[in-house]
Amino acid sequence: MTKAILVLNAGSSSLKFSVFELTTHDHGRGQGHLHLLAKGKIDGIGSTPHFSVKDHQGVSLAKEHWAANEIIDHAYCLKEISTFLRQQYQGIDFLGAGHRVVHGGTKYNAPLLLNPGVIKELEDLIPLAPLHQPHNLAAIRAVAALNPSLRQVACFDTAFHHRQETVAQLFGLPYAYFERGIRRYGFHGISYEYISSVLKQQLPAIAAGKIVIAHLGNGASMCAVQDGKSVASSMGFTALDGLLMGTRSGNLDPGVVLYLLQHEGLNAQEIEELLYKRSGLLGISGVSSDMRALLDSSAPLAQLAIDYFVHRISVELGALAASMNGLDALVFTAGIGENSAEIRRRVCLKAQWLGIQLHQQANETGELCISQHGSRTSVWLIPTDEELMIARHTCEQLGL
Ligand code: ADP
Repeated sequence: MTKAILVLNAGSSSLKFSVFELTTHDHGRGQGHLHLLAKGKIDGIGSTPHFSVKDHQGVSLAKEHWAANEIIDHAYCLKEISTFLRQQYQGIDFLGAGHRVVHGGTKYNAPLLLNPGVIKELEDLIPLAPLHQPHNLAAIRAVAALNPSLRQVACFDTAFHHRQETVAQLFGLPYAYFERGIRRYGFHGISYEYISSVLKQQLPAIAAGKIVIAHLGNGASMCAVQDGKSVASSMGFTALDGLLMGTRSGNLDPGVVLYLLQHEGLNAQEIEELLYKRSGLLGISGVSSDMRALLDSSAPLAQLAIDYFVHRISVELGALAASMNGLDALVFTAGIGENSAEIRRRVCLKAQWLGIQLHQQANETGELCISQHGSRTSVWLIPTDEELMIARHTCEQLGL
């Protein structure tokens, strides 16, 4: 019987899942070997859902459009995924489920086995991540309803940053606010942890140095990592801060929020919607939140949105290098970072002052190392795998 771990990453309108087979020969020694069986997602939840699954080689196993239907929520999707997996892999035995949970607050700084008490505490953190946390928890509840005896593990996007120095976590507010949890947490920690693990394994000399990892996806952030530990991050209290993103504004003078409230007649909910869903690449360009569409567009505002995206990355890169008093390596990852040679080229061109010399051809062909031999600061291209990181943590927590 195939023993497997289910990994879930639930967003507001999507449910991504991965299934990893756990080979049995080394069970019990904390070294279970994980092999990707299938990776899929249901997106368009709430509008027109689309279900797709691929195997480990990227071969499509299923592709289906469903008619819009309001009963299609995370619980419904999970049932469909479960039915599909049981049909596809007869006799599959799930040993546990691992979840991406965006916020662990000040208390949860490592992956952990879930129980009703912990789930309640994670619900209390919803105001800190209103657009992510409720959906993460909905998936956890849906799994519990479907299979109450299945053990579930939460992996937090904030956890990797937990040990940053206080100065990196602080805002210039009265200190009492910091003690109440109003501080910089940082996100995308599962991705940064995965990249750090790859560096440690494949490039130990680089891993021991001062690195900035640029996670450039629809959500985007950057992290200064020194000797494998997070030193500073471009994201702060919420996943809104820092870089320009697909639909999120990135860093903003807090005075702008006051002005919108006091003079533009927007209420808190409208501002939330503006900053999370109508800003970023989409807001500036008016064309799309998708970097591919902007790179293909000749609209002047699409080009301006790209210019500002690159400008913000350059500025954060300088700030993060300063937080480590130097820079040895830059790593690109996630959708844009992994796939867009053009964005990498533009970022590196603006970072020559940091000792970065891009190797044009290696960049175009997407090699692991994309800097010139002799570049004072090396540049790397490493695909992230948050799902594998979650599966590893899940196995650890379950003693598999
Ligand atoms: P998410 O934060 O949703 O996980 P991803 O990491 O999948 O996002 O990244 C999505 C982004 O990556 C989109 O803006 C998409 O346009 C961009 N992207 C994917 N492939 C390319 C490409 N070949 N060139 C430029 N951008 C790309």
